[in-house]
Amino acid sequence: MAQKPELVGRSIPQAAQLPAVSGLGLDSDKARFRLIDTLAHSHQLDAALVEVMRAVPRHRFVEPAFASRAYEDVALPIGHQQTISRPSTVGRMIDRILRHLSGIDRKHLKIMEIGTGCGYQAALLSRLFGEVYSIERIKDLHLLAKKNLRGMQCFNLRMIFADGLKGLDQAAPFDAIIAAAAGDAIPDAWMQQLKSGGILLTPVSTPSGQVLEQVISLGHGNFQHLQLDAVRFVPLLHGTRS
Ligand code: SAH
Repeated sequence: MAQKPELVGRSIPQAAQLPAVSGLGLDSDKARFRLIDTLAHSHQLDAALVEVMRAVPRHRFVEPAFASRAYEDVALPIGHQQTISRPSTVGRMIDRILRHLSGIDRKHLKIMEIGTGCGYQAALLSRLFGEVYSIERIKDLHLLAKKNLRGMQCFNLRMIFADGLKGLDQAAPFDAIIAAAAGDAIPDAWMQQLKSGGILLTPVSTPSGQVLEQVISLGHGNFQHLQLDAVRFVPLLHGTRS
């Protein structure tokens, strides 16, 4: 069922209009639990996912001026015209992966993320799956994500500064591929690097707007495509930026 396109990187209020941050300790925990529990209920999210979303402090991944809005279901700026995606979008995409691969021990699953950004989604993925590879094309964001994740014990997460359009041949095949940026078509490399039975989720730009596309690899070069909700992500760009 089509949903209203969500705005990623748009409609961001001025810092001056934001409510004051009342400490980022217990208050932020409460606000986070409230948001995640609401999302869990409205989107029927997987229990393990809900647990990690309750545990990962999203306010540590957004710019300080926006920390007070970290527990609203909105995209927020992370610099370089990029955004941290809405928690509901992140949750629903990861939930689809978990459900599709539910017959396999999560700790045996290998995931590739395109678009590390600030590292929030990478933190969730690393707590849920066995091995996570996350690629970012903007050097400063790659470094920011590393800084944000310091001390968070994501030992199974490899962050790579590279053009994610090429995927990551050296670590393929992947059980799941999740992209946080929209191109005009799904890069061939991603399809080739998807394990048989694996799932790929990516926004794709179409003439009538962006749509979230799910691809399941059926093996022997066959794929099943499914178009899901209308979405709005930042663009998938070529090359790297140092
Ligand atoms: N998952 C992130 C969302 C970041 S927004 C989070 O949790 O915050 C999408 C990111 O995709 C941006 O940081 C952008 O620089 C990156 N991106 C766009 N094109 C890319 C490409 N070809 N390779 C790798 N990253 C890319």
